[in-house]
Amino acid sequence: MAVRAINGLAEMVEEGLVTPASAPALRPVEEAFRIRMTRAMRDRVDTADDPVARQFVPAVEELTIRDGELGDPIGDETHSPVKGLTHRYPDRVILHVTKTCEVYCRFCFRREAVGDEGSLPEADLVAALDYIAVNPAIREVILTGGDPLVLSARRIKGLMDRLAAIAHVDVVRIHTRIPVVAPEKITPELVDALRGPVVWVVVHTNHAQEIGEAAEAALGRLAGAGVGLLSQSVLLRGINDSVAVLEELFRKLMRLRVKPYYLHHCDLAKGTGHFRTTIAEGQALMAALRGRVSGAMIPTYVLDIPGGYGKVPLVRDYAEPLGGGLWRITDWRGGVHGYRDPER
Ligand code: SF4
Repeated sequence: MAVRAINGLAEMVEEGLVTPASAPALRPVEEAFRIRMTRAMRDRVDTADDPVARQFVPAVEELTIRDGELGDPIGDETHSPVKGLTHRYPDRVILHVTKTCEVYCRFCFRREAVGDEGSLPEADLVAALDYIAVNPAIREVILTGGDPLVLSARRIKGLMDRLAAIAHVDVVRIHTRIPVVAPEKITPELVDALRGPVVWVVVHTNHAQEIGEAAEAALGRLAGAGVGLLSQSVLLRGINDSVAVLEELFRKLMRLRVKPYYLHHCDLAKGTGHFRTTIAEGQALMAALRGRVSGAMIPTYVLDIPGGYGKVPLVRDYAEPLGGGLWRITDWRGGVHGYRDPER
């Protein structure tokens, strides 16, 4: 199914998302990184600099590379035993089934890797599946890309069948932006294709304004079919770095039966510094959310350590050991309390 979209700078100008005067300065951005925004996302835009538009409309700031920014910020290539597969943790692998997305997010952590059309070649897929099959410690396969749900329902079904045939794979996790950015692709055929292995879909969404009625219906189709739903968001300066915006997003997700899972600190991808907050700012937002919304609604704020060392929670300490079983505990309002571990 072809998804209707705005492709490239010229179409962004036609749509009024980029002014003709600013287009020449953006040509180097277009040469470096693909530009694409679905019609579904265009329909969620109110003004050319609102929180939805800014995620997809190119900016000259993308040409500024800051110290420490990297081509492969989370180290996918560091832990790749076979092409298209990342094996960072013992019990799970990431399978990069395609490098294509329906949108190209301006802050993408894989922006140097995504953008090509086409999926992982069959020979590479066979080698990746063989690697999974001979490694019984692998209990979970994470499909990513690009966006794995750009593949047709028929191809997804074929992949699910092949993964279901590997007895030690308990869970398939699909990381995707499609239920929100191209909800028309969540067809009954695609939902049917997700039956078989236990499937969790992790929906990437950053702002409640992205989630329109069609996205709500798409998430409802997935939830109705028994697919587990989690979300991941990226903390983005000027887009969702406020308590009110995050609260609205997480409340909306919970209403749609999507459990907020991760809030990512913006990775050190090249040309994304204008989106990045400090870790201290992110921690302050998370602290302000606690007590304001239920614990079930609060995702884990995480950093993917540059170089491929994996994710760590960026938690602010609520419990400080004082020795002798005594703890200093800070509540969500900042009140301090003593707590002693009972004698064992
Ligand atoms: S959909 Fe995901 S992989 Fe694709 S550009 Fe956006 S963040 Fe990157």
